Amino acid sequence: MNRQERRRKARLREEWEDRRHLQADYECPDCQADTRLVQQHPGLYTLLVFHDETCPSYRAMPPTT
Ligand SMILES: [Zn+2]
Repeated sequence: MNRQERRRKARLREEWEDRRHLQADYECPDCQADTRLVQQHPGLYTLLVFHDETCPSYRAMPPTT
């Protein structure tokens, strides 16, 4: 592994660690929602939030199609 490859991997690792804070910082005010951070593409992440079925915040959300 050359220097360029090591730097690229270090940059990706730092980026991933930054994104993991998003997951750790999210808390639903009404339930014990589980979260999962998914990388869609390099540099593009989606935070999935799994609310309890009885969660008022979840129930107030408009339905998705
Ligand atoms: Zn919730």
